[in-house]
Parts: sequence; C-alpha cells; structure tokens
Amino acid sequence: MRKIVIYFFSIIIFTFVIPIIFTKTNQIEQVSNIEENNEEAQYEYSKYNTIKLLHNSTGEIEELNLDEYLLGVVSAEMPASYDIEALKAQAVVARTYTIYTIMHNGTKHERADICDNSNCCQAWISKEDRLNRWEESEKETNWAKIEEAVNDTKGKIVTYSGEPINAFFHSNSGGTTEVPINVWGGSGYPYLQVVATSGEENYSQYLSTVELTKEEVLSKLKEKHDEAEIDWTVDEPIKILEYTDSGRVRTIRVGNINLSGVEARSIFGLKSANFGAEMDGEKVVFSVKGYGHGVGLSQTGSDSLAKQGKNYEEIIKHFYQGVEIINY
Ligand SMILES: [Zn+2]
Repeated sequence: MRKIVIYFFSIIIFTFVIPIIFTKTNQIEQVSNIEENNEEAQYEYSKYNTIKLLHNSTGEIEELNLDEYLLGVVSAEMPASYDIEALKAQAVVARTYTIYTIMHNGTKHERADICDNSNCCQAWISKEDRLNRWEESEKETNWAKIEEAVNDTKGKIVTYSGEPINAFFHSNSGGTTEVPINVWGGSGYPYLQVVATSGEENYSQYLSTVELTKEEVLSKLKEKHDEAEIDWTVDEPIKILEYTDSGRVRTIRVGNINLSGVEARSIFGLKSANFGAEMDGEKVVFSVKGYGHGVGLSQTGSDSLAKQGKNYEEIIKHFYQGVEIINY
C-alpha cells in the first residue's frame, strides 16, 4: 500500500508540479532577459544623451543634451533659409556624425566628446549668438525651423550594416561628390561613393576664382618644397596632368613640381580640389567649383534635391549609398 501511495505522488509531481516549476522559471528568465535588453538599449542611448562640448576659443567644456547641442550644430552648419527637408537631413547627419565621433575618437579631445571647430569636428553656435546674427523679422521663424529639423528627426541616425556611418558632409560639391581615398588616402568606406547632384551649379556663391602672380605661386610653393628643386622654366609651367573619377584634380604640375589636387588646394588657398588652372599672361588663374572636401552629403545639394521634392530620407540615401535610417 505504501509503495502505491509513493508511486501515486511521484506521478503527480512529474506530471503537474515539475512542469509548473519549469514554466515559472522560464517565464522569470524571459522577463529578466527582456529587462536586460531594455536596460542595454537605454544604456546605449543614454551614453550619447549628454555631450561634452569643447569650446575652442575658451578651452571650456560645456555639457549639453544631445538634441540641444544639435540645434547649435544645424544652425551653424546650414543656412536656415534652406528647405526644411535639407535641414532635417543635416540634423540626422550631424546626430550620426556626433555618435560616430564619440564611438571612434574617444580620446581626440581628452575630457570632451567633440569640439565646435568645423575644421576638426563640426561647427556649433549658441542660440543667443545665432539669434543675434539674424534679422529681427526672421529670428522667430528661423529658430522654429531649426527646432523642427531636430525634433522631427529625434533619435534618427544613419547606419550601414547596423553601425553608425562616418557621416562626412561639405558645403557644395560642384556637381559631383568625391571618395574619401582621394582626399585623405587610406581605404574607403563603401557607403561613400561618387554621386552626381543636379542643381549644385545654381549656388553661384560657390564658384570662385583665385588669381596669383608667378612670384606669389613660387613663394607659396617654397613654403612646402625645397627652393633649389623648383624650376619654373619648363614648357607649360601650369598643367593639370590627371583628374579623379569625380572630375577633381588628381595631379597638377606647377613649374617642375607635381602636386596632388588636395595639396594644391591647401597651398594656393582654393575652396576645393575641383578646379581648372591656366596662365593668363604672367598670372595663374584658378577657377574653382564648390566648397569643401566633397565627401558625403553636400549641403547645397541637399537643398537642391529638397526643392526638387525629395524628403530628408531620400536626400540622405542619395549621398550615402546602401544605408538605413534607424531610430537609435
Ligand atoms: Zn574637434
């Protein structure tokens, strides 16, 4: 009889109690997994929620909320007169650039995450300074537009293969963007390709001419090259030898010295490496298209595409190939 009772209880334990315990533990584990994932996601996001911004002029570091910081970047980097979809594209790109910079250049500014110099990181201006530079009549509408660009794209960033992209941008491409390898060397990023954008030529403030005398050219060349090696008495002292696929200068010969287009841009103070060069009597004339390195998103190109009816996601996907726009 006792054996039968034990047998009976064993059956009950195996068929009912143990499964119930298992199910409970499983549910508890599942719940704790979900909580962990949530915590992880929140942790990832909160890491970038406060930005330590270095002010280059004073050396001060200011802590700002990410979107508050982005208002200062968008309003410093792009004219408020540009189309709202271009401003939104700029906001998403600036947010992506910020997160990428923090993830990859953690020690660039020691205690700060990013600085306010456009030649180093990206430009930033305080709301007070920004408003002071606008006409009284446009202050309110301009600032509202900047806020709309940042707030309507809240949390959105550009990714490639699930990772935030290195979201380079520049003022005006002159019609075609450049691949990074032709500017900085190294290996390229697959999402940064040569893309043509119509309407860039309409921003005529980005067409420029630099005229230098032969003496000025030689003196600038001497800053970077040994004077004894320079010979101007060659057949054609100014000659472009090769172009990149985007139509920028790859190599130009000045006297007997070969320079890359990027070097020539820096030595002669040109706005981009997208230029023509010729002698006009004793003068060298550079005719320059565009402004900036030409890699990634073009700001005037974004405005031009927006005016052709493209939204900010289409604009971003035009300048960065094969990317996704996700909610971070
Ligand atoms: Zn910086």
